[in-house]
Amino acid sequence: MANNSQIAIYPGTFDPVTYGHIDIIRRAAALFDHLIIAVAPNRIKGPIFNVEERVDLLSATVSELSNIEVTPFSGLLMDYAKSKNANIIIRGLRAISDFEYEIQMAAMNRQLAADVETLFLSPTAEYSFLSSTMVRDVARHNGDVSAFVPEVVVEALAAKFR
Ligand code: ADP
Repeated sequence: MANNSQIAIYPGTFDPVTYGHIDIIRRAAALFDHLIIAVAPNRIKGPIFNVEERVDLLSATVSELSNIEVTPFSGLLMDYAKSKNANIIIRGLRAISDFEYEIQMAAMNRQLAADVETLFLSPTAEYSFLSSTMVRDVARHNGDVSAFVPEVVVEALAAKFR
């Protein structure tokens, strides 16, 4: 990347990627020269898809966008941002429930790296109440999740819970 190009990072667990994430990815990809989708390894409870599977599902769903890169990451996000020359962190804001956690994290990240800005984007109203957790719960009980996730994810979920 050239020195003056704007590199943004969209970090998350993406377990699995939903249309809400994809909505944010499209918006961010339109705003910045290069978007790195950084897939975090685990959460407290442990994800249902491993990092490699989550990276593959993301890559399959956003393959038509040319200025994005999907990659695993671990460690401190601010260290990762510096290593990638990125000065923007993208986060999605849904309903107000996201706000407190997101604002805390943004404040902490600013403390760690003052020159990296956290930018919040909101999805279309349709996806404002959609979460990976809900998708997993519905899929676990054989519910239809095709309105919330792309076909590759529907299939991956079906294979997981078969
Ligand atoms: P994390 O474990 O970091 O919360 P997620 O994969 O759950 O990872 O989400 C990554 C980011 O995407 C977060 O900023 C989250 O708020 C946002 N996000 C998740 N679902 C949606 C959605 N339906 N619409 C908009 N943003 C979303």
